[in-house]
Amino acid sequence: MARAVRCARLVDVVGERVLTDQLVVVEGDRIVSTGPDAGFDGEVLDLGDVTVAPGLIDLHTHLVGVAACGDYAQELKHSAARQAFASIPNARDTLLAGFTTVRDVGTFRAFVDVSLRDAIEAGHVPGPRMAVAGAYVTVRGGGGMLTGFAHDVEVPKEFRFGETRSVDDIRERVREIVFHGADLIKLIATGAVLANGTVPGAPELTEAQMRAAVEEASWYGRHVAAHAHGAEGIKRAVRAGVRSIEHACFLDDEAAELMAAHGTYLSADIWWADWIRETGPSQGYDAEQLRKNDETAEAQREGFRKAVRAGVKIGFGSDAGGFPHGLQGRQLATMVEHGLTPIQALKAATLTSAECMGWDDRVGSLSPGRYADLVAVPGDLDITKFADVAFVMKGGEVVKDTLRTTS
Ligand SMILES: [Zn+2]
Repeated sequence: MARAVRCARLVDVVGERVLTDQLVVVEGDRIVSTGPDAGFDGEVLDLGDVTVAPGLIDLHTHLVGVAACGDYAQELKHSAARQAFASIPNARDTLLAGFTTVRDVGTFRAFVDVSLRDAIEAGHVPGPRMAVAGAYVTVRGGGGMLTGFAHDVEVPKEFRFGETRSVDDIRERVREIVFHGADLIKLIATGAVLANGTVPGAPELTEAQMRAAVEEASWYGRHVAAHAHGAEGIKRAVRAGVRSIEHACFLDDEAAELMAAHGTYLSADIWWADWIRETGPSQGYDAEQLRKNDETAEAQREGFRKAVRAGVKIGFGSDAGGFPHGLQGRQLATMVEHGLTPIQALKAATLTSAECMGWDDRVGSLSPGRYADLVAVPGDLDITKFADVAFVMKGGEVVKDTLRTTS
């Protein structure tokens, strides 16, 4: 039985415009049609005076794990089962914030994300549709490792599953990670901000290693996302053919032009530095971590503006998990402050991110055949309201409704 959702205003992310008086017709979990409200002979959910957008997509989350914390030793104090249960509220909070799809880009303990994805798909726990990375592919001591321990302490194998040393070895890491259920591969191309001892700007993988990883992943229909802060690491990753650059803190003009030429997507977490600055000391972040956060924040926003100007494909990636899940909608306003229009920011967090994942045939727009995933905020289009959406539908099911809608 088809049902319909009445939308006073609807953000058409394909046409980059706001349409009025639209009806989204849903059958089962999919959209049948979206068009002018010309009357519909069936059950109608009238959302009232709202602005509707497709369900939001975050290209960069870390749903697995116990609450955000700057202390990596915490990772070793929880079992895999504890981490899995702790990720349940993370998944729920993400969904209730309107993020109906996420690309989850890594867990320190390998493959807990695969189990979470499967539990959500099976209906055991509420959460977003997930594409997962399984484990970080990283050099020993690099940005994807648990670092900061004494040199004679050996971290358990499941925390080093993606540790790689050579071109041949990286192919094997990619294969094994895919065989264990990952939907994509996450490479750590440079040092990381929060990993003690690593240098965010320094390259950690060679172009040959990354090219081998991209090729190996492609044989299994998988994309590669590259964590890269420094310009050199970004350029190597782009030339190697990765699908997206994550973070891109020190993106220079040459790197921006290279990304535009290669069609590489940008997934830049430009909001949460503000959150670390405000709450970091009380969260247990140490002086080195706070200093690196300050150094990278402004550079990253400047790089984002360069990318927008260069015509790079802009996706939405927040790094939720570094900060509490469900707050990432705040980044939309930051993206508007740094060069996008409100509609472009929503397009980044829907259609463009879906394209980056290769999932635009099922999510990212309200076109026929897509999952009936949509969000609504009261009144006119105001990007700041998307930090706390009032209504969420996933697969035709209302999972949040603070509008007190009438049907
Ligand atoms: Zn991350």
